[in-house]
Amino acid sequence: MHHKFIFVVGGVMSGVGKGTSTAALGLILRAKGFTVTAIKIDPYVNVDAGTMNPVEHGEVFVTVDGDETDQDIGNYERFLDIDITKKNYMTTGRVYLSVIEKERRGDYHGKCVEVVPRVPEEVIARIDIAAEAAKADFVLIEIGGTVGEYENILFLEALRMMRMRDPDSVRTILVSYLPVPPSIGEMKTKPTQHAVREINRVGIAPDFIICRSEAALDAPRREKLSRFCGVPEAHIITAANAKSIYEVPMMFEEQGFADTVLKSFHAEAKPADLSSWQKLVEKIGGVKNEVRIGVIGKYFSTGDFILSDAYLSVLEALKHGAWANGCKPVIEWLNSEEYEKHPEKLGELDTFDGILIPGGFGSRGVEGKIAAIGYARKNKIPYFGICYGMQCAVIEFARTELGWNDANTTEIDTATTHPVIHIMSDQNTKLDVQGIGGTLRLGSYPCVLAENSVSMAAYGETNISERHRHRYEFNSDYREDLVRAGLVIAGTSPDDRLVEIVEVADHPFFVGVQFHPEFQSRPLSPHPLFVAFIKAAKSRVA
Ligand code: GLN
Repeated sequence: MHHKFIFVVGGVMSGVGKGTSTAALGLILRAKGFTVTAIKIDPYVNVDAGTMNPVEHGEVFVTVDGDETDQDIGNYERFLDIDITKKNYMTTGRVYLSVIEKERRGDYHGKCVEVVPRVPEEVIARIDIAAEAAKADFVLIEIGGTVGEYENILFLEALRMMRMRDPDSVRTILVSYLPVPPSIGEMKTKPTQHAVREINRVGIAPDFIICRSEAALDAPRREKLSRFCGVPEAHIITAANAKSIYEVPMMFEEQGFADTVLKSFHAEAKPADLSSWQKLVEKIGGVKNEVRIGVIGKYFSTGDFILSDAYLSVLEALKHGAWANGCKPVIEWLNSEEYEKHPEKLGELDTFDGILIPGGFGSRGVEGKIAAIGYARKNKIPYFGICYGMQCAVIEFARTELGWNDANTTEIDTATTHPVIHIMSDQNTKLDVQGIGGTLRLGSYPCVLAENSVSMAAYGETNISERHRHRYEFNSDYREDLVRAGLVIAGTSPDDRLVEIVEVADHPFFVGVQFHPEFQSRPLSPHPLFVAFIKAAKSRVA
């Protein structure tokens, strides 16, 4: 079977589940025995997500091969249970950069380089490369943003051109939103009709519409949408709010969605084995005991709203770890700056079963994090520090146990007399030569665990591989002193040069990791450190 391309575009507004719909359809096709891959197109001019503020854009997801991508790549990995590489992520910036580089090399042989077709051609070339690399029967391509925006128009043009190239190999799904305004009490189809008109204007007719809404779509509205949007009724899929995103595949399969997609490609319908997902959903529904986790960060307030998108994979990994322990995670987002302004608030940490500090950058809120870590260490509250959360744990330990009051990371204080965290040796040159974009230590690196460590017990093996995204690291000049004061070095690079995991003894769970374990946690194979952390937190409840 030659590659079949399924484009997923959004209508009406963002945040209605395009990524989840893409991932869920991919999962079902995989469960029907096909090879599937998924591509995310981000319409921003940024070359990667690494330079986008997570409050605005959400989490920066890191792939095994070190790309800084959109959080949807994480959704695909969690649903499809495959590693997705940098071939599967593109931005406007990345596409234009290639076109301009080609022009500079003279690859266009003196021709005027027109935006159309050159830019869409580059998009198509990238899609073809990803399809070939994955040897995929089905390639799902999610175009970021919503139809009608100026920014994604060239990607829609790529879709149109691919359809012209081979009409039988391309299908388009529109994920739309059907509001039920409380004052009217009726589900409205008009915004979806407008979204379809919008996409029609650029020469594309959707083959399927996924209708996201509070409640299921009823017959009169399905009929209306079909008539006004030119989509067969059987191609209109209802996606009412689910209790968890992990229920969406079953919701789609009940409607025979993937089979209808297969039939539209003139392929035969097939049964899907979704039993492990079904079991997971049942497990999620059955968990009763709550475990209360405080996540201390700073990337979640936007105006009057709290968004947890910046820490999406951490949140998912906490859920996976909790479900594996038969409990329900109750997560509270705690603002580290509050502990700087009101140190007396640290006492609230006692009400949590576990504290987690995820990755972060810069000085804002960092002293609050260090104070919270000190509180968790002293009061034996399970603590899990990730990346900045590990670095801050080392700083806290150095200040408290060795009396090095000015111990710090040189990210914040270059003049400290105790730079226990310092810039990695190659990073200064990278910054000087290449600037900030894509120059951190990125992607998967091996790590060797110490016998008898909490981490080793959790993983059950000595050699692991985890994904990184940082510029600073543990300063080995201070290793001996810190170890003498009781810090446990539980994981290092295979050459023993880089410290990757620290722990403290005589504590229910105090683990700081330089890498980001959350990127490798999957619902069906929860990450061992998250499982161990929640287990410790659960014991605190009991
Ligand atoms: N700011 C720290 C560094 O660059 C930690 C990065 C992170 O938490 N991802 O090393």
